Amino acid sequence: MTLHDFIRAMPKIELHVHLQGSTRPETLLKLAQRNRVPLPSDTVEGIREWYTFRDFPHFAEIYGVICQCIQSPDDIELLGREFLQGQAAQNIRYTELTYTPPRYIPFDEQLDALNRARAWGEAELGVTMNYIVDIPRECEVEIANLIADWAISGMGKGVIALGLGGPEVDNPPEKYPEAYAKAKATGLVSIPHAGETVGPESMWSALKFADAVRLGHGVRCL
Ligand SMILES: [Zn+2]
Repeated sequence: MTLHDFIRAMPKIELHVHLQGSTRPETLLKLAQRNRVPLPSDTVEGIREWYTFRDFPHFAEIYGVICQCIQSPDDIELLGREFLQGQAAQNIRYTELTYTPPRYIPFDEQLDALNRARAWGEAELGVTMNYIVDIPRECEVEIANLIADWAISGMGKGVIALGLGGPEVDNPPEKYPEAYAKAKATGLVSIPHAGETVGPESMWSALKFADAVRLGHGVRCL
């Protein structure tokens, strides 16, 4: 057995992975067609090529288009099921999944869709997940407050943390004092991205202001 095979076969947990960022090219094409969202290519090969990492802005652009293609609870359940199939194929038994909620679908419907996928994954595949509900760093304060309220409403139903992701430059967690105060008051922990594209000052801000219990990335610490 090779080391690769050994690691693939061993039971694992995954703590940093995004639902939207795990969308298969085939599924993105299907969702785009269903929801009439234009894509830069209409073939699997073209989408796979477009998915190739170039730089953070290009990555964020792709993430934004994927988010636009998700327009119903059925879309969310489909992504959740396919995500868990991928985790099961890698023997990842438990995942803390970062989820960026679309603002135009009631959150209880989104969470119900994710939990239908989770119940299916538990019964059929023997894998499960909980959710880190993510504030995009570039969003308006009102949206961040709404997402914090949504995350709090999902405690006990799969939501285990408030996340923070997206463009780190000029978008510190200090933009969102109310969202963090609410999360802290209810005991919802904070797992922000930090130290992804900005250095130690961003990581300190995540630790001190956002009360992070864990950082996503944290690689620019020196
Ligand atoms: Zn991430």
